[in-house]
Amino acid sequence: MHIQIQCCGIILMLTLYFFYMRQKRISLNSQKAFLRVFWATFICLSMDVLSIGAIQNRHLMPEPFVKFIAKSYLVTLLFVALGALSYICVDIYTREEVYRKKMKPYLFLASLATVGAYLAPITYHFAEDKKTVLYTHGPSLYVTYGMALVFFIRIFFLLKKEKANINPRRREAVCIWLFVWLAASQIQFMYTNVLIVGFAGSIGVMVLYLKLENPETNLDRSTGLFSSSALFQYTKQLFDSDKDFSALAIVFENTAYQNVPMEQRPFIKMEIIEYLLKLPDVLCFKNAEDEFFILFDDTATSEHHAARIRERFEAGWGNHHSSFVHPYWFYLPHASVTQRAEQLLLLIRHLRQDAKEFSESDFLCIGADSVNQMLHKKETEQLILEAMESDRVDLYYQPIFSTEEQRITSAEALVRIRDREGQLIQPGLFIDIAEENGMILKLGEIVFEKVCQFIYKHPLERLGMHYIEVNLSVVQCAYERLANDYIQIMKKYEIAPSQINLEITESASTNAKKILQNNMEELIEYGVSFSLDDFGTGQSNLNYIVDMPVDLIKFDRSMTNSYFENGRAKYVMDAAIHMIHGMNLEIVSEGIETKEQYQTMKDLGINHIQGYYFSKPLPEEDFIRFLLEQPGQE
Ligand code: C2E
Ligand code: MG
Ligand code: MG
Repeated sequence: MHIQIQCCGIILMLTLYFFYMRQKRISLNSQKAFLRVFWATFICLSMDVLSIGAIQNRHLMPEPFVKFIAKSYLVTLLFVALGALSYICVDIYTREEVYRKKMKPYLFLASLATVGAYLAPITYHFAEDKKTVLYTHGPSLYVTYGMALVFFIRIFFLLKKEKANINPRRREAVCIWLFVWLAASQIQFMYTNVLIVGFAGSIGVMVLYLKLENPETNLDRSTGLFSSSALFQYTKQLFDSDKDFSALAIVFENTAYQNVPMEQRPFIKMEIIEYLLKLPDVLCFKNAEDEFFILFDDTATSEHHAARIRERFEAGWGNHHSSFVHPYWFYLPHASVTQRAEQLLLLIRHLRQDAKEFSESDFLCIGADSVNQMLHKKETEQLILEAMESDRVDLYYQPIFSTEEQRITSAEALVRIRDREGQLIQPGLFIDIAEENGMILKLGEIVFEKVCQFIYKHPLERLGMHYIEVNLSVVQCAYERLANDYIQIMKKYEIAPSQINLEITESASTNAKKILQNNMEELIEYGVSFSLDDFGTGQSNLNYIVDMPVDLIKFDRSMTNSYFENGRAKYVMDAAIHMIHGMNLEIVSEGIETKEQYQTMKDLGINHIQGYYFSKPLPEEDFIRFLLEQPGQE
């Protein structure tokens, strides 16, 4: 029996340990499990050497002691197998209490096998000279090998069954490790004087180290801070163990460095990174090129630390502290409000989108309400997306009554979406979000196409109607291809452009005014008319009507309502009506709910009335039925 191979294994492991300890690490569960495998293998190798030494010198020691050492070596083999099992279990059972519960039976079995191994007899197998011991065997060995085999089979089984839950790199590394072990034991079985199983174990540990557990893989190469994947793994682990912590995200948008001369920026950036690297008692991660995360274990003192970090930024950087950088600060005193690592990162992304509205160096303290808002937004985005993909965008039509013709002559198309259960969702809940993320472009086009399909199916003249009003969002107005796309759709369904009236709002003009004007010009030339929606809300500006080529002005419900509630509002409305009519434009009054309101509006000379007094917005079929039931409608 020789111990040279085992000694090589020990040297290899000590070298690995040296490199491992030298590096900056975060305390990840997977790394703790790796250390368990590492120590089990190391002790196993050392016990191997010790037991070979004891057996070779068995004449110098009491027999039971030699056998105790030999058995102890066998038991350590068992714990290497258990270590390997625990190593993949940390990946599968990420919640600490679940992991503990799952590991309990294996620990029990290992303890049982340990007791069995110590109680069972062990014998020596001698070489032909009847003196040299080749290896040990007997019941003690069968108990430990048998149980190790059970663990290995379990590992194989888990690798297969839990494929989706195990990091693919970990699967691969564990497979290589097991293969090296099994190959070594096969060789050792055939050539009984080649004792390489222990050494194979150390090679296996090296594979794990190189493929997965090198702490350097958790570092960002350019800065030396922890990487984004380390951030994800570590926060996931904190959430899984139900530990609350605080987080500070520092975001450097383009504007952050605007006061720093271009040539100095790389130096300032480096100075900031060096500062972050040296921060005591916190973990600092680089999540993206311009986004850094600082995690605080202690929520009670985090605010104080966060304030200190901000103060450092306020003190200036570079020579004579003359360069000032203004990042956005997102501080979560209790990161647990986000519940999951994915959600925490998503929240910051979501907040970054809104950050453009902040003033310089804004500091935002984030609580549960921001999270709920984000979640609601995400859910709604998902709903809109699904609705568009699965044809769950519905159009409702609200009849508009002409006071001159004394019948319904037009209607406004109003969008709704349905969720999976068929529940109707009102536009007030999703239009803003669709505008924010740009989905409104697609949604608006679907609405417009549906309106055209409706007109194609039910020619308006047969319903006694002149046109349908379709809402245009601010975002659509600023879309260069809008006119072109809409004209194509009208052509596709052979719709006369005079049957379409597009509603724009005043806010549309401030954003990308030029594009809106081009779109309007093109569409008006084609024959489409426009109306101005929401008149009387916000900062309505009569000058705007002068500028914009609209034919109709739609008085918002709030404006018509205040006419009945507020004596002074009457004068404003009278004046507005006078001016609008003076410009030869027509007026639609929205939100008319009672006969009195209708009568008053009619007496004021309002041209069109829209409101619950006539009808709420109706689904297509009901709307057709409603029109057909109207006296004077043809
Ligand atoms: P809007 O364009 O001003 O539409 C009028 C809103 O007032 C409609 O709400 C309508 O149901 C409601 N309304 C009409 N008469 C009455 C009334 O007598 N009493 C009351 N209480 N309400 C009345 P809805 O359908 O919820 O739409 C809200 C807003 O959503 C619309 O305001 C419009 O800005 C937007 N919207 C609706 N459909 C679309 C669309 O297809 N595209 C875009 N971009 N926006 C849309
Ligand atoms: Mg409208
Ligand atoms: Mg309106």
